Amino acid sequence: MRLEKCYFCSSTVYPGHGIQFVRNDCKIFRFCRSKCHKAFQKKKNPRKTRWTKAFRKAAGKELTVDPSLEFEKRRNVPIKYNRELWQTTVKAMKRIEEIRVKRQNQFIRNRLRKGKELRKEADVKEVEKNIHLIKSPAAKAKRLEKKMMQVVKEEDIDMDEEA
Ligand SMILES: [Zn+2]
Repeated sequence: MRLEKCYFCSSTVYPGHGIQFVRNDCKIFRFCRSKCHKAFQKKKNPRKTRWTKAFRKAAGKELTVDPSLEFEKRRNVPIKYNRELWQTTVKAMKRIEEIRVKRQNQFIRNRLRKGKELRKEADVKEVEKNIHLIKSPAAKAKRLEKKMMQVVKEEDIDMDEEA
């Protein structure tokens, strides 16, 4: 059994899942779920659809150049079955997958941290730029309070005069 990659979102297509489309020029398109198949039928471009791997890679949101990704590439050379070789291969694949996931997570964490720093910087700048806006409401409130006090006092005086 072979685990295929979805043509649209690049996720793994497990046996018994998704759908396969063979175009009349014999090109095979595999889809992991109807969502991807429908998007393909609507002629959506995976590079312009935000939830696909292709978009994320194109937008620099995921690791693109890393030697650990090389191992994922599909090989079409059949290998003779050899129990020992098979076991070591499986072990190596698992280890590679572990390393790949680890690096990917590290990459994402770095990216998020960078974003956080940039946001903080932008926030500080924004505050510095608009500091007068922050000051003014308080000042306005004080002025208003003074005015109100004055009105109240005047009313008091009026009342006194009437009495
Ligand atoms: Zn898919």
